[in-house]
Amino acid sequence: MQIVCLDLEGVLVPEIWIEFATRTGIPELRRTTRDEPDYDKLMQSRLAILGEHKLGLTDIQQVIAEMGPLEGARAFVDGLREAYQLIILSDTFYEFAHPLMRQLGWPTLFCHSLEADADGMLVRYRLRMPDQKREAVRRLRELRFTVVAAGDSYNDTAMLGEAHAGILFHPPEQVIREFPQFPVTQSYAELRAEIDKAFVAVTPT
Ligand SMILES: [Mg+2]
Repeated sequence: MQIVCLDLEGVLVPEIWIEFATRTGIPELRRTTRDEPDYDKLMQSRLAILGEHKLGLTDIQQVIAEMGPLEGARAFVDGLREAYQLIILSDTFYEFAHPLMRQLGWPTLFCHSLEADADGMLVRYRLRMPDQKREAVRRLRELRFTVVAAGDSYNDTAMLGEAHAGILFHPPEQVIREFPQFPVTQSYAELRAEIDKAFVAVTPT
């Protein structure tokens, strides 16, 4: 039994915070873990900035819905789901991903969650568990699935390493240099071909 685990942002949809910052004209929201390595501090400051701009969950979801998935993502996902089971493993939040998952035909998503108050303002984030991408792949392997994983960045490399085969999709140069063990793909056609090839290579005959 074969499962594909895919990262979401940078693979099927834009980087949500960066695209959100551009669309709302709030440059402070472009900060990532590269600028603030303490994830909790980064998230607290993001929630505070959203509050200062009086952006509640409904406003945020509207902006995210307009982003849409990357071009060709829906067809890629549909094609994968005909051949394999698909689970999207992401460090985003269900509440943010929701409008994009609708546009992708509601594939299965494992990620984190946010809490809003009665006025719809975001007050808290909840990480389901640490290192969840890698843990999910490990548990799927324990359930005797053959897993091929693909992602675009540092936060995917642990799950790529944990899977039977890992593939990079459109990664930054430093990631390619630091993780030469993973094949690099640049388009959905290349990624699909690499996934098919990987399953053939790792599935016992
Ligand atoms: Mg990503």
